[in-house]
Amino acid sequence: MKIGVIKELQPERRVALTPEGVRSLKTMQCDILIEKDAGVSAFYANYQYEDAGATIISRREVLSGSDLLLMINPLPEKEMGDITPGCMVAGCFNPFQNEAFVKKLQHTAITSFSMELVPRTTRAQAMDILSSMATIAGYKAVLEAASLLPRFFPMFMSAAGTIKPTKVLILGAGVAGLQALAVARKLGAVVEVFDVRSAVKEEVMSLGGKFIEVEGAKEDSAAGGYAVEQSDAFRKKQGELIHQHAVKSDVIIATAQVPGKKAPLLIRTETVEAMNRGSVIIDLAASTGGNCECTENDKTVVVHGVTVIGKSDFPSDMPSDASHMYSNNMINFLKLLISKDGKLNLDFTDDIVKGTCLTHKGEIVNERIRNAMTRDEDTRD
Ligand code: NAD
Repeated sequence: MKIGVIKELQPERRVALTPEGVRSLKTMQCDILIEKDAGVSAFYANYQYEDAGATIISRREVLSGSDLLLMINPLPEKEMGDITPGCMVAGCFNPFQNEAFVKKLQHTAITSFSMELVPRTTRAQAMDILSSMATIAGYKAVLEAASLLPRFFPMFMSAAGTIKPTKVLILGAGVAGLQALAVARKLGAVVEVFDVRSAVKEEVMSLGGKFIEVEGAKEDSAAGGYAVEQSDAFRKKQGELIHQHAVKSDVIIATAQVPGKKAPLLIRTETVEAMNRGSVIIDLAASTGGNCECTENDKTVVVHGVTVIGKSDFPSDMPSDASHMYSNNMINFLKLLISKDGKLNLDFTDDIVKGTCLTHKGEIVNERIRNAMTRDEDTRD
């Protein structure tokens, strides 16, 4: 099988496969085609790919010569016609938000795998790109907040007086939130955490955070460990409690998301206005609407002296390790698709293959995406 890797378009700096990844795929009897300079922004040079056994060629040659294309972001629409019929694609296609791309894949009968859809099961952990990227986002968000905050994170007792530790509030204790908690604690901050899933309370406490519980949260065991949308009464109660804790915080890292839905609105403008000047809010849910009313996606705004950063692409700011993790997750997934002699082995009885497959032979295979798109169409009718 010929596996091709394209250079991502700016501002993306990650690459879908590292030279180490090329070595692994070579042991699986695959030929690897890499677009020239595909890894340069992530600090992987062309010669490193060649040393690992890949062939460096032009973008057009990669698109037209591959049986399977690996990427991070969706291929630009104008290039969809350049790929060979029958070629498969794997990447992070953001299918809940990118209906147009899903339809394009469906109508061109391309077999596609969207790595955000990898089931969150123990067996699939080594392929879980969402977790890998959320780990980076949580880590970088705290570092960004610490560098912008006009205060120390840890407590200091010096001849010039005592400095109190920074108070960090984390909204959402998923992968990004727990990583942010761990990093903020390592930097010496006092950390409080909100989540609607009671299951995370112990994890929060074991990392040194204080879990703020709001009674009455709706939980659904059928949601695969994910949060579900909450009632109006709960949202009101939670909003009041978050306000009380937010106004005493110096940093808020907002990570709360509900898959396939707009991010819950947890911080109102009046809360931001009541925070201390110089405080920093990092909203990692910015691309799905944000947890803060003041958030603007991909922008930094200052509201009453509080810096609000709407940023969902932190992994691209740490391109080497982000690519390393992405590439490893991808290879672990490809081991399910490729037989030992380098041939395609599409086994839809495997729950990971079926769950990750977005489109195949003109059909939307993933049930959650199919249902979400049918629902949207029904609402429009
Ligand atoms: P996510 O990005 O979907 O959401 C982030 C967090 O926001 C979640 O903890 C969620 O409960 C929380 N949240 C949602 N609405 C909220 C609200 N109104 N108020 C406060 N918090 C709110 O989460 P994620 O990091 O992708 O993790 C989702 C689930 O998947 C978790 O249960 C996690 O443990 C699980 N998981 C399992 C595996 C695995 O077994 N392979 C791997 C990773 C994650």
